[in-house]
Amino acid sequence: MSKNEDRSISEIVENQKSYFLTGKSMPIATRKKYLRELKLMLQENENIIAEAVYKDYKKSYFEVIENEISLVYVEINLALRKLRKWSKPHRPVPSIVSIPARCMVCQQPYGTVLCISPWNYPIQLALIPVVAAMAAGNTVILKPSEISNHTSALLSELINNRFPEEVFYAQEGGIEETTELLSIHFDKIFFTGSTHVGRIVMRAAAEHLTPVTLELAGKNPVIVLPDCNLKMTAKRIVWGKFHNGGQACVAPDHIYVHESIKEKLLEEVKMNIEKQFKGNAIESEALPRIINEKNYNRLMKLIPADRVVLGGSGIKEELFIEPTVLRDITEDDTIMQEEIFGPLMPFLSFDDLDALLEQIKLKPSPLALYIFTRNFRLARKIQRGIRSGGGMINDTVVHFVNSSTPFGGVGESGMGNYHGRAGFETFSHRKAVIKKPNWFELWIKYPPYTNFKLKIIKLLLR
Ligand code: NAD
Repeated sequence: MSKNEDRSISEIVENQKSYFLTGKSMPIATRKKYLRELKLMLQENENIIAEAVYKDYKKSYFEVIENEISLVYVEINLALRKLRKWSKPHRPVPSIVSIPARCMVCQQPYGTVLCISPWNYPIQLALIPVVAAMAAGNTVILKPSEISNHTSALLSELINNRFPEEVFYAQEGGIEETTELLSIHFDKIFFTGSTHVGRIVMRAAAEHLTPVTLELAGKNPVIVLPDCNLKMTAKRIVWGKFHNGGQACVAPDHIYVHESIKEKLLEEVKMNIEKQFKGNAIESEALPRIINEKNYNRLMKLIPADRVVLGGSGIKEELFIEPTVLRDITEDDTIMQEEIFGPLMPFLSFDDLDALLEQIKLKPSPLALYIFTRNFRLARKIQRGIRSGGGMINDTVVHFVNSSTPFGGVGESGMGNYHGRAGFETFSHRKAVIKKPNWFELWIKYPPYTNFKLKIIKLLLR
């Protein structure tokens, strides 16, 4: 049981705000102390955390370590190493209208921030934003997802028993509690979840003019060109699609394959599924379950029985759906009308690349765009020409774990970004301060205005 359960959330937020105003969260040494504390908290509890995630959707110990806890360690280690450098004021050259002067742009924490996270990577999607917020010197309220309830309960208990509530506090709850939190005036909100709830968050934030970062959903296309390395393409698409049971925001959603290699790619994909899940997906530790019955039912309805190449069935009591490959899907099929977010892999084919690209451009901007080809020039041109949050050439998903590049969406897939330095900057306000000496004054700016002064201004600022 958390030590703070008798306090209302608005009292805790007020407490955080007062603490922030004392400036005690600001020193680099304090920020580092809490980042180390967070790392220690995870290190000491790896096993019980993995057990909790397993209870939520049978995600294996291997995967909890590999793509949850380790990713938080990577971000903490990076912040500990780079924090001093990231926090250093930047000193640009003053523009002509300000000289003589010295300019300084410093990174100032927003204050008390709210991080709201989804269920689908219940550790890293909750804690990586927290690492960035803490590194930037903010105090943090975390609202983990009620859907991954075992993990959220454990995470909240660990956090609230370890951290002073004025520094970092986790508030469990669903829609009701989140709505209450959203009515409070925070200095910044970082939300990860669906595009639908992203809109609710942004509306609520507008009431207080609170800046938001929204990490939202994506219907991420994969384009496979005839000159790709077919074996590697199939291997990487299969890994990316079925990772976390297909329940990843950056998962390849649907595959556009060139007509000329369609049959070969389907064969390779089938072989890879057999290999990666040892022909027995239900026993595989690499395929977590569907998170709940609602999503299970939704996904099963997306499968057109007449176009199943592999899989296609499920076991409701187990919330298990076979890795499923679907062929000859068209844009009008139900599966193309929403984010899939499950282990279903629809194939669409094309023969005119330009027409396909024009069609993709007209759709809402996805979170990721994947292209498989040996023609890097063409791939780069396609990546530059189509708006998406991020993307890869010849691989899927793993750009998410690269902390030297910013991660985030655009348009319907979100706004703002994080990871590494980008996360630190997301939780910092860039404050410009210009220092002027007293030995010189630009006298022409003062009234009374004269033609002579105007001439000088025109001369200087043309
Ligand atoms: P969700 O939007 O349903 O929930 C996210 C959070 O919002 C949860 O903490 C939940 O309690 C809260 N919430 C839900 N309904 C709310 C409401 N009406 N008012 C206020 N708060 C509410 O998302 P989810 O189902 O947990 O996660 C899956 C979705 O998140 C997918 O669409 C996926 O693409 C997206 N996602 C995006 C990223 C990213 O980095 N862009 C990462 C993971 C997941």
